[in-house]
Amino acid sequence: MLRNLPFPRLLRFTRFMGPRRVLFCLAALCWLVTGPVFAQEQVLGLRLGVHPDKTRIVLDLSGELPYSLFSLADPYRVVIDMPAVEWATGTGSAGAGGGLVAGYRFGLFRHDNSRVVLDLTQPAEVSKTFFLPAAAGKSVRLVIDLVPVDRAKFMAGAGFKGRMRVGDTMSGSSKGKAELPPPVIRSERITIVVDAGHGGVDPGAISRSGHYEKNIVLDVARRVQRHLVQSGRYRVVMTRETDVFVPLRERVNIARNAGADLFVSVHADSLRSAKVRGASVYSLSEKASDKEAAQLAAKENSSDVIAGISIGTETDDIVRSILIDLAQRETKNKSVRFAKLLLPELGGVGALLRNSHRYAGFRVLTAPDVPSVLVELGLLSNAADEKLLMSAGGRDKLAAAIFRAIDQYFADRQS
Ligand SMILES: [Zn+2]
Repeated sequence: MLRNLPFPRLLRFTRFMGPRRVLFCLAALCWLVTGPVFAQEQVLGLRLGVHPDKTRIVLDLSGELPYSLFSLADPYRVVIDMPAVEWATGTGSAGAGGGLVAGYRFGLFRHDNSRVVLDLTQPAEVSKTFFLPAAAGKSVRLVIDLVPVDRAKFMAGAGFKGRMRVGDTMSGSSKGKAELPPPVIRSERITIVVDAGHGGVDPGAISRSGHYEKNIVLDVARRVQRHLVQSGRYRVVMTRETDVFVPLRERVNIARNAGADLFVSVHADSLRSAKVRGASVYSLSEKASDKEAAQLAAKENSSDVIAGISIGTETDDIVRSILIDLAQRETKNKSVRFAKLLLPELGGVGALLRNSHRYAGFRVLTAPDVPSVLVELGLLSNAADEKLLMSAGGRDKLAAAIFRAIDQYFADRQS
């Protein structure tokens, strides 16, 4: 194949470098410029090896692929980025740790970018990284060695600087400044933004029997979309339609840029207590209505951290800057009105949590001009709620309940 290359210089370069290396460089270059153009590689396994002096992470691969590594502080994480790959590692997308690794997650970070996030037990740095060729029944392996370092050394090497490639700017999520996008002009049609929580590298809560929130809520969100579209009365914009991670700020921006009349973020949390069950609905407030709501907001706001984004104190800044704006008051009232319509509908399908309408500083609800609520469909830690959420019929009933509340909300508005 390389003999037919039309570029003599490239051919000379190929002879000099060796065809395999050139192919690898070309693939890496194509990926940097246009996204993945070569066949999708597979990750066949991810293993940890704990040694006295290091923790070794081994990715079994169908072939070599370009990758980049960087580390993030608070909490300590190491992130491995690569082109979109197929995960042939079973159904899970998270694993338990060992040695310097407390746990890890993997999945799509962008449509063209897969990611592994390693949570560290202490500051550590990558001391070595190399490929092992396929041999003796073993696939190609990417080996990454982590060694402990002190915080000062970790901090000196942490962050995206110089490590990230073009196209990995994450839509400003890592820029650190609490800037709001420009206001948008609303369209004539009623626009609903349906936001399936989590996704990709962020699995969300995990149910009693090991199912991920990200998959359950995506299915419900799709069903809500179907109901809305079928009614012919709404334009629907989804923040995600596949198992991909979407940063929280981007979800807010999607709502604003769509000129949304309503933003509904769909979630299904889990608690330590298996007894508690029921749906609940949340709207934005600087001061949380109670401790549980504040804890839930902190958990949902950590999505970006889980996916390997450094956000610092940005969350608090954004919530604060929006809440001092008095123009927000009307949006807030509308959000509360929708929450109050949604609760009885959800209560008609399953149980409701006590104090089922609560307030807290949810980052995903911070579009200042879009009424926004976050709905927790139920608790994946409770057997009855899990059963409801794991059945297609149950998910459709919940989606229909959300649809009916949306219909009521806009029917009231028009009258
Ligand atoms: Zn969630």
